[in-house]
Amino acid sequence: MPRPWNDTVRASGTLRIHCTQQMVGDWQNVVSDAITAFNAISTRQSLGVTFTDEADQDQANVVVWTVSGAHSTVFRGTTYQINLPGNASAGHTSLYSIADKNEMAHVFLPATPGQYAQTRALGRPVRLVIAFHELIHCCGLHNSDHGDLAFHGTPSATRGGTASDDRVSVRSGGRYVHMPPLVISAQTARNIQNTWASP
Ligand SMILES: [Zn+2]
Repeated sequence: MPRPWNDTVRASGTLRIHCTQQMVGDWQNVVSDAITAFNAISTRQSLGVTFTDEADQDQANVVVWTVSGAHSTVFRGTTYQINLPGNASAGHTSLYSIADKNEMAHVFLPATPGQYAQTRALGRPVRLVIAFHELIHCCGLHNSDHGDLAFHGTPSATRGGTASDDRVSVRSGGRYVHMPPLVISAQTARNIQNTWASP
């Protein structure tokens, strides 16, 4: 079940997102592109929430790191450990709540997704889908809310001839859909809309 943000954030329709300084490679630009894509879809499909850049980490609702293995973060004085290999092909979002309302989201992106001894890291198009998927989690949707298209729970990466030809592929309605372009299902759109609507 999706969980709404606290009333102040929900009423603002805005998540303030901060990318930490030590993000690897061009991940910060990829996240920026994912935000632009999300906001465009949100406007088109009236999702009720958009992301805005926040320079001050202390003012952010969403903080983003690139990680390569164990990483610890702090929420309200408690330290939380996560472990995401640098070559994982998906990110991870931790949603922290108080009184069953989201207060903070921490997003972890794999530093070099899909990179093994003999293979290059997955290209920017795949990383765009990875980042976009985590933005949907930031809206309050959990793994149990996974659905179709960009919010598919088990997407697969398809390597192209060059990194810029890499795509994410999911089987949807009896055919394969390749992303980008980024698309969300009607069900995912409804889940976001319901989570951000006035109670
Ligand atoms: Zn997910």
